[in-house]
Parts: sequence; C-alpha cells; structure tokens
Amino acid sequence: MRIETLSVFPEMFDSVMHASILGRAEERGIFSFAAFDLRDWTHDRHRTVDDEPYGGGAGMLMKPEPLMEALDDLESTGPRPHVIFFTPCGEPFTQRTAERLAGEERLLLVCGRYEGIDERVYARADERISLGDYVLTGGELAAMVVADAVVRLLPGALGDEMSAQDESFSAAGLLEYEQYTRPASFRGQDVPPILLSGDHAKIAAWRRANALERTCRWRPDLIEHADLTDEERERARELIARNAAGAAEGAAATDCGVV
Ligand code: SAM
Repeated sequence: MRIETLSVFPEMFDSVMHASILGRAEERGIFSFAAFDLRDWTHDRHRTVDDEPYGGGAGMLMKPEPLMEALDDLESTGPRPHVIFFTPCGEPFTQRTAERLAGEERLLLVCGRYEGIDERVYARADERISLGDYVLTGGELAAMVVADAVVRLLPGALGDEMSAQDESFSAAGLLEYEQYTRPASFRGQDVPPILLSGDHAKIAAWRRANALERTCRWRPDLIEHADLTDEERERARELIARNAAGAAEGAAATDCGVV
C-alpha cells in the first residue's frame, strides 16, 4: 500500500509515520509513505493557500486552486488514489472503515487547516472522514490516526497476525476483554484465577463473557451490531438493563455477574 498526505504542514508526519510499528512496516516494504506540501502548488511569492470566505465571517479558508492543481498532479501518476478529505462534517471513522481502507492500493489523505476548505474542492473526495464530534486545528492528526489504524491491519505489519484480529471492535464487534501480566497479585489486586489455570477453552469462554460484560457497561451502543449468539444477546439485554437500573439509582453497577 502507498499512503500520501497533502497538507501545509508535511513536517508534522516525520516522527509518527517513521517510528515504531509504522516505521518497521515501512522498512519492510509493507507500505510506503509520502507527505506532500500543498504550498508546492502555489504560484505567488508568499505561497498563499488561504483566502477570506465569501459572505464574511471569522477566519480564512483554503482556496481551491492549489488543492485542485495538487490533486490533478498526484492523481495523474501511479494507480488511482482513494482520496479522503478530513472534516468534522464527514462520516465517523471506525475500525470497519480502517478495515475497508486497508484493502486500497493507494490512499491520498487531504488535510484541511484554518476554517476549512472551499466547498468546491470536496467534489474530488471519494469520502469525507471525521475523527469524532470535536474540532481539531488541522487534518494532519486525523490523517496520522487513520494511517496508523490502517497500516497495523496490513499483513505482516504487527508481526503476529492474530493480534489485530483479537482486539476491540474486531471479530465480534465487542470491546476487548481485560488483560493482565505478571505479577499475579499486585497491591491487593489478584489476576482472575482462570487466567492462571492453563485451561485454554475456559480462558477463551471467560474472555468472551468478559468482553460482553465490558461492552455492555462501557459501550452498550455496540451491542446492536455485535456478532452474538442468541444466548449472549439475551445476556447482554440483562446486563444493560441492570447497568441502567444501577445508574438510575445513582450508583454504577459494579458486578455484572461474569465469572
Ligand atoms: N470550520 C470547520 C467546521 O466547523 O467544521 C472546522 C475547521 S478545522 C479548524 C480545520 C481542519 O481540521 C478541517 O478542515 C479538517 O481537515 C480538520 N479537522 C478538524 N476537526 C476534525 C475532525 N473532527 N475530524 C477530521 N478532521 C478534522
């Protein structure tokens, strides 16, 4: 896979995109990365990329010409990129989106700044992505989040193929189960004994039940689309009702009854 970004702060990508798992994946040729500077497509002495909004209002907007020219150039070489624009007005980014994007050959991530981008440029977007219901200063952080989430799904990027499949939102669409490492007892808190038992079937069953419990407690909105058995769905209904009743009494439910 090739990932490219188009922004006015290409240097922001230097450390994140070349460090840790992303850095190793790049070294191993699992993906390649390039950060393009939008100012390279300006024609004035000040390398201007913004202008005042028609109709007045605070702040500046990214003007269309440099963005359109950059997209013309970048799209004219290599395989056609899947073009993503970052904006709070986009579709919320999820693990499902990351999984879908991991199947693309080339991603071109367009990062806004200032008060955003002239609306006409969005005609060039294959999709608009939002990181969430808040406003960032620019799209660079959003691009790094998406690149990170996508690259770690590429075959070989994590080293252990199972680790990406066994995480929150993957597989059944539940949050991940609790995890522990040594020591088995720490400051009065013990690791659940079943995890020390060596019984893999029982451990798998405990993890599944624990993931269901945690999802019901922290993200009940995920349950509707989770891949559950009839029995688990019934259990989830009970847990969510119990948590809601606990919350209504002013106390968070502390025991969801999962062994
Ligand atoms: N005026 C815009 C609005 O109210 O929707 C916000 C512009 S924001 C200050 C500048 C740029 O940051 C946006 O063009 C976008 O690229 C990026 N950005 C800000 N918040 C974002 C979010 N939640 N998700 C994705 N990108 C975001």
